[in-house]
Amino acid sequence: MTVPLYQETALGEEAYREILKHEQLSQDPQLLKILNRVGGQLAAVSAMPHLNWEFALIESNERNAFALPGGKVAVTTGILPVCANEAGLAAVMSHQIAHVVARHGTERLSRSFHNSGRGAAIPAGFSNSRNKNEIMTALGVGPDRSMPFSQRHEFEADDLGMNLMVQAGYDPMETVRFWSRINQMKRGSRVPEMLFIHPIDARRLEDLRRLLPKANRAYQANPLKHGLGRSILYLLSRRQLMPKPHPLSPPPTRPSSETAPTPGTPFNP
Ligand SMILES: [Zn+2]
Repeated sequence: MTVPLYQETALGEEAYREILKHEQLSQDPQLLKILNRVGGQLAAVSAMPHLNWEFALIESNERNAFALPGGKVAVTTGILPVCANEAGLAAVMSHQIAHVVARHGTERLSRSFHNSGRGAAIPAGFSNSRNKNEIMTALGVGPDRSMPFSQRHEFEADDLGMNLMVQAGYDPMETVRFWSRINQMKRGSRVPEMLFIHPIDARRLEDLRRLLPKANRAYQANPLKHGLGRSILYLLSRRQLMPKPHPLSPPPTRPSSETAPTPGTPFNP
């Protein structure tokens, strides 16, 4: 791999801003608090705690999550019901954070540019729309979902992700439960979008289950235990009961004592 960390960070940052430009970011203080807490705890125990980690919650019915080099992680509100609780969200985010820490995005970029005959000459930024599409597709966030992570990358992200879950104090069993839930949704009328890039099958589920005994032992030995954490389903049901603001009404003001993080706020562990 010949791409320096500062270059992949710059590309990840550019791709992240490009995506968020076209998305509506959630302003829900409770959900943002959970997102930042879970993401922050996982990033803090990773091998790259000092990246400029940012966590965004996108208002969308898509069931998706992605991460970009340099520590940018986004989750859609559509996947939250599948997460169900904090540990389920930790399962999603730890897998994404693991891809970042293992620098899988950069490896995909290198391979993509190498295969197209340009060696490892990866540009420092987007120079035109074709190169932008190529970079974003290689990073798994382009409109073209033709580049799923390889089985090896998925196994590494599952293994490392489960480790992060345990170190952050979340029950690792929820990883298996989350991926089983989302795997079952493949049979529905609409395949969860996350599975185009992070495919799962019986073999991957089996591999996840095989990782579990060791993860459980480490979890039992860790004095820090959140179990499943708070229920996200409860927060979502409360949100549905709240009246939608009138399009012309001013944005709600928060009491000054409230310290809920703003979307996309850098996290510094
Ligand atoms: Zn993956």
